[in-house]
Amino acid sequence: MKYYVLFGPPGAGKGTFAKLLVENHGYYHISTGDMLRKEIAAGSELGLKAKDLIEKGNLVPDDVVCGMIRSEFAANGGVRGFLLDGFPRTVAQAEALDKMLSDMGDELTRVVSIYITDEEVRRRIKGRALVENRADDADDEIISTRIKNYHEKTEPVIQYYKAQGKYFEVIADGTIPENYAKVEALVD
Ligand code: ADP
Repeated sequence: MKYYVLFGPPGAGKGTFAKLLVENHGYYHISTGDMLRKEIAAGSELGLKAKDLIEKGNLVPDDVVCGMIRSEFAANGGVRGFLLDGFPRTVAQAEALDKMLSDMGDELTRVVSIYITDEEVRRRIKGRALVENRADDADDEIISTRIKNYHEKTEPVIQYYKAQGKYFEVIADGTIPENYAKVEALVD
C-alpha cells in the first residue's frame, strides 16, 4: 500500500493537487480539513468542538484528527493508496501516523511538500475567499494566526521526515499545471 502525505502551508494547493492525483492515479484522498468542515455542517459533537478552534485559525487536538485518520484507514482497506492532505500537522501527529502504519505492518511512502512563501499564502487565501465560503479565509487576523501556527507547530514536521529521508519538496511558483507536474513526478 502507498501512503503519501501532501504537506504545505494553508492555501498551498494541497486540495487542488489531491483532486488531480485522485483522478489520474486512483488514490484515496483523506483531507482532515474537509472532514472537519463536514462535521461542522452536520452539527455533530465533534463539529461543535472543532468549529470555534478552526474559525479562530487554531488547530484541533491531535487525538481528534488521529482518530479520524485511523477510522479512514480501517474503512478503506481495498484502495491502491492513500493521499493524506492536511495531516500530519504536528510532530505528535506524525509520530502517531508512524505508529498506526507500523501497527498495520506498513510505512509511509513519502512526503510531498508544496512550498509557497507567506506572502503567497495570503494572496491565495484571499483569492479562495472569493470562491469558497470559509470563515477562516475571510479575515486577515485569522489568516495570520494560521500562518503563525503553521510555522510554530507544523513546520517542525519537515525535520521529522527529513531525518527519515522521506521529505521531498516542490517549489510551487508556477501555474497550476506546472506545479502539478512537479507534484506528480514525486508519486507513482
Ligand atoms: P488549509 O490548508 O487551507 O489551512 P485545511 O482544510 O487543511 O485548510 O484545514 C482547515 C483547518 O482545519 C485548519 O486550520 C485546522 O484548524 C483544522 N485542521 C485540519 N487538519 C488538521 C490537523 N491535521 N490537525 C489539527 N487541525 C487540523
